[in-house]
Amino acid sequence: MLTREMASVPNNLEPFWMPFTANRDFKANPRLIAKAEGMYYTTTDGQRILDATAGLWCVNVGHGRERVVEAIRAQAAELDFAPTFQFAHPKAFELASRLADLFPGDLDHAFFTNSGSESVDTALKIALAYQRAIGQGTRTRLIGRERGYHGVGFGGISVGGIVKNRMFFGSLLTGVDHLPHTLNLEHNAFSRGQPAWGAHLAEDLERIIALHDASTIAAVIVEPVAGSIGVYPPPQGYLERLREITEKHGILLIFDEVITAFGRLGKASASEYFGVQPDLVTTAKGLTSGTVPMGAVMARKHIHDAIVGGATSSPQTIELFHGYTYSAHPLACAAALATLEVYKEEGLFERAAELAPFWEEALHSLAGEPHVIDVRNIGLMGAVEMSSRPGKVGERAYEAMVKAWEKGVMIRITGDTIAMSPPLIVQKHEIETAVETVRSVVRELA
Ligand code: PMP
Repeated sequence: MLTREMASVPNNLEPFWMPFTANRDFKANPRLIAKAEGMYYTTTDGQRILDATAGLWCVNVGHGRERVVEAIRAQAAELDFAPTFQFAHPKAFELASRLADLFPGDLDHAFFTNSGSESVDTALKIALAYQRAIGQGTRTRLIGRERGYHGVGFGGISVGGIVKNRMFFGSLLTGVDHLPHTLNLEHNAFSRGQPAWGAHLAEDLERIIALHDASTIAAVIVEPVAGSIGVYPPPQGYLERLREITEKHGILLIFDEVITAFGRLGKASASEYFGVQPDLVTTAKGLTSGTVPMGAVMARKHIHDAIVGGATSSPQTIELFHGYTYSAHPLACAAALATLEVYKEEGLFERAAELAPFWEEALHSLAGEPHVIDVRNIGLMGAVEMSSRPGKVGERAYEAMVKAWEKGVMIRITGDTIAMSPPLIVQKHEIETAVETVRSVVRELA
């Protein structure tokens, strides 16, 4: 049990340089979390906060689940660490097999990482290594999408398309192009689920291919549902068209499923949900429900086999010069295996699918509230976009986030968009609480 004294505010907030945070502002008025259980956080001063964002889109089974906690505890006592370079431990193989079963088609090899960013950089490197392995070494170009978020590694910010994540960090990777983003309020505002307009935007890939020639392009990476930028579900037919074009030209298609995998859309993956088979899938977050950092890249059989080669190899031949000290860390494997069991036993993916229509109705009841210019939803992801104050992009949403916190609900913001993605154990009354809190907050905003 955490006592009030133990959870007191630290006396020096300065040394912790906080990520993606206005440090000065935060430290003047910190929002400190002491503990979590189920759908709720408790702050250091004892306030209960409904977690409407699953932490950072990751806590899919809810907080403090005994099964997962116990698995981590037992694993730490039994085997705290084992290298997976030239040695290994059984749970790494067990987890890879479970994941192979969970992802569609022959996405049956798992390369383990510690985060979404590492999964993205790993997938890009696998794509390049694959093209080289099959004698297509001239294919070195990568294609991302405007407003895409693929983490913060140099690979990820290069193929990513969020200007603030790119502009401070030099010239990035060379040989990268970007597809147009798919948000269009003129055509698609307040559409529910996948918007009807916009599949033709995938055709821009043909333009980029014509500009450089297919023989220079290794891979296209997109989030099947753009998450961090404010939940943009793909236009109907868009992902299918990307798949057709990439396949026709020998270009790999990478789905960045760091948010969408593990039930967020009511299926194990967005690939399954949309019925589109990518060549590589990046994951993290929901894999361990956020408990221990871990990611995985799922690769199709032919990609793995082309790089790893035939049945025999010499002991000196390492096929892929890539990996992390903590790839398949025992604690992360134990947490992931327990998390996957909770998903299965409690039917949480199905539960998310069943709740999705209720979630949609609740969110869209915010249409017509002050400042609200769009509402978007798919699965248990949702966004409420507000108009910006002239010259002050993000100010309105920031105020909304602070007010929602004061009223006991954690939401996320990007620009002037509020994003929500509750744990998959959310109850209908908690969805109502989250939405009604957002309603009261936007009504209070100037
Ligand atoms: N890709 C996508 C699609 C993401 O949403 C995120 C995180 N929000 C990342 C990559 C990066 O993950 P991480 O923060 O674990 O590095």
